[in-house]
Amino acid sequence: MKEIVEVAVGLPLYKTFHYRIPEKMKSSLQVGMRVLVPFKDRKVTGFTIDLLDQPPKGIEEKLREVDNLLDGAPLIDLQMLRFYRWISDYYLYPLGEVVKTGLPPGLHLKSEMILSLTQDGIESLTKGGLDPIQERIFREIERCGKVTLKKMLKIFPGETSRSQLFAWKRKGLVNIAAGVEGKDVRPKFEKFVQYCGGGFAKPIPRKQAEVLNWLEEKGEVPYSELGRRFKSSSKAVQSLQAKGLVTICSREVCRDLSIRSELKAYPRPELTSDQEGILVEILKGIHSRRFSPFLIHGVTGSGKTEIYLRAIEEVLAQGREAIVLVPEISLTPQLLSRFEDRFGKNLALLHSGLGKGERYDQWRKIWKGEVKTAMGARSAIFAPFKNVGIIIVDEEHDPSYKQEEKLKYHARDLAVVRAKQVEATLLLGSATPSLESFYNAEKGKFHLLHLPERIEGRPLPRVEVVDMKGEEGLLSGKLKASLQKNIEEKKQSLIFLNRRGFANFILCPECGLTFKCPNCSVTLTYHLRDRSLQCHYCDYRIPAPGDCPKCEGHRLRGMGIGTERLEQEIKRLFPDIRVERMDRDTTSRKHSHLQILKRLESGNIDILVGTQMIVKGHDFPNVTFVGVASADTSLSFPDFRSSERTFQLLTQVAGRAGRGKTFGEVVIQTFNPDHYSILKAKDHDFVGFYQEEIQFRRALEYPPFSRLINFRLVGNSEKRTKVMAEEMGRIGQSLLKRGHGKGIEILGPSAAPFAKMRGKYRWQMLAKGKRSQLLHQFARELAAKLEAQIKGKGVNLDIDVDPVFIL
Ligand code: ADP
Ligand code: ZN
Repeated sequence: MKEIVEVAVGLPLYKTFHYRIPEKMKSSLQVGMRVLVPFKDRKVTGFTIDLLDQPPKGIEEKLREVDNLLDGAPLIDLQMLRFYRWISDYYLYPLGEVVKTGLPPGLHLKSEMILSLTQDGIESLTKGGLDPIQERIFREIERCGKVTLKKMLKIFPGETSRSQLFAWKRKGLVNIAAGVEGKDVRPKFEKFVQYCGGGFAKPIPRKQAEVLNWLEEKGEVPYSELGRRFKSSSKAVQSLQAKGLVTICSREVCRDLSIRSELKAYPRPELTSDQEGILVEILKGIHSRRFSPFLIHGVTGSGKTEIYLRAIEEVLAQGREAIVLVPEISLTPQLLSRFEDRFGKNLALLHSGLGKGERYDQWRKIWKGEVKTAMGARSAIFAPFKNVGIIIVDEEHDPSYKQEEKLKYHARDLAVVRAKQVEATLLLGSATPSLESFYNAEKGKFHLLHLPERIEGRPLPRVEVVDMKGEEGLLSGKLKASLQKNIEEKKQSLIFLNRRGFANFILCPECGLTFKCPNCSVTLTYHLRDRSLQCHYCDYRIPAPGDCPKCEGHRLRGMGIGTERLEQEIKRLFPDIRVERMDRDTTSRKHSHLQILKRLESGNIDILVGTQMIVKGHDFPNVTFVGVASADTSLSFPDFRSSERTFQLLTQVAGRAGRGKTFGEVVIQTFNPDHYSILKAKDHDFVGFYQEEIQFRRALEYPPFSRLINFRLVGNSEKRTKVMAEEMGRIGQSLLKRGHGKGIEILGPSAAPFAKMRGKYRWQMLAKGKRSQLLHQFARELAAKLEAQIKGKGVNLDIDVDPVFIL
């Protein structure tokens, strides 16, 4: 039996730690379980990652014991552990935190510092004579009995501090000790009543007979249902149980899902010959049981989803499992029912729109092997299947696959890695593949498959580009005319604008004042509905002033348009039709975005105005016109991917038009009518776009011709963050000088594009390198040296590995 366990704690620490295994846990503790372990003066959750006979050399003395074993069975198997280790290595992120990201939320116990008054403390209150602040604090602790240190600091900000509370502890007035907060999610159990059959010699009372008859008919019912049906049924059930006529049992149940499919039948169509040709290739991959990566480049509506469904059927027939990733916003009842219709209840959903308990239950269904298919947004890549045969990434170019906080993983890249590790088939699908994936396909790393036409030869929409330089107002004559025509023909329209709010910012033309967010380096956006100025990054908001607070001028003016303004303008132009808006402001309530889509589907909306939320998801046959109010927003974004992003957005938006039998039309308004992103989107020419864009990337050595890692320092103090950034630059240069990092180029350090965000100052340094291994080696060395420097200085290092993943 093993003596020692290696634990990855769920804390931002790269190191793992060793603990002794107490006698009583020796037979049950395995790799992949959660344990509660002592850590400094606290207790934290960790994951067991290895078992050893002996402590590693040199640390025999100090080892402490595992405090508690939190699971009866491992949550992660060795295959997943390997996957997690790879992620930790590649994204330079602590293993324990990586595992935490992969598990459903709510499984993480943590100890807290808990305060209570000692006897002396209580007496000091009765004796009196404390200073007023101390008295108020002590009264509060007394009132609560026990309270966390964190909460006390929140209740009395500025009036007490950690060191003050600890000083009282030293004086023997308060106790401060680590205690565990028990907030983890658990399986939900429900009581059931079962009919046992058989007879009973003596007559039974009428009430009991009634209950028994009903149970005989039903066989088994939830206890709660019985209570609803019969008044005070519990007594009757007890008597029936005593007579051996019914039994009561408790069973794990699955919490109801808040996203429901529409229960519509989607008949399984005959494949078109194009689909057939592609499927044959994919099936070869599936049957080989080897890593087989495919990129399906298929225009919107070309029948990709049907191919996914067929491929999954084949994998399930092999007794293996399937993971399907879709962008966050695409998980709609319509898509869900297409999958449910094919796979019945053999499907789990992993999605951030679900509640904690729901998510946990879905995760457990996968973990226990009760379902064989999992579908969801990016976190579904962590589905704990044991025998994955296929991983599908729909709309593989979608930016929502990248997690932008904490562990900055890209789910598409992880799909490639996981499929490779477990010898599975990989299907990436898109009408506008990412440059890196198409490049991989060109290099022969992915097998490229084309679906050049829409199903039933439905034509792609006709796209017109309007140069806004010659236009007045928000909407060009052309766009207005097209809307008018569409209304007359009783068709629906979508108008896309990638910015919410009413006006982008407010300006005083007399003194030039604009309103800035105090926490972020951005201007505040004007929202008409509640007449507020809001920051879209930190949610800071103030009432919009009537006059300029600086010069008292009366002519404050809104500059730049948002969806709110656009909606108002369209309502003004077309007062008699039904206009709605879909953006983050109108969809903050749960499921409100699904409700808007439902109204669109049922024909209760004539024109829907919205941000990129309207780009994906449904298939609306009656939407025949799509207008893009401004293609310039994404084009002017300071990022080397802005052209790519613009092309993708425009193509996807345009793809919403004319999905039914009628010809679709698209109008794009722009001040850059000659930009290749716009011209190629107009012609639905992905390959043409790719060829132009890849030249630009090659010339400037941008990805995929190089790899990038961004090192960002984030701190509370402007000065200290800058000083540390300069230190980061020096460390970087000295590493290069000493030959650590051939072919690596450093850009910066410099203030980040948004130099202040949510009250924190941000500096960054970009490392660019040709060879991934060398670049990662450099990053590890830099991080190690820098971590030592910034420790305790209130500055954090945030590493962002650019999602260019070339096999
Ligand atoms: P994509 O995923 O490429 O956008 P879908 O798979 O959603 O395309 O197909 C577009 C539409 O065509 C859907 O309404 C779908 O039901 C239908 N469809 C797909 N394949 C076929 C087929 N072989 N025969 C008839 N209709 C099909
Ligand atoms: Zn802000």
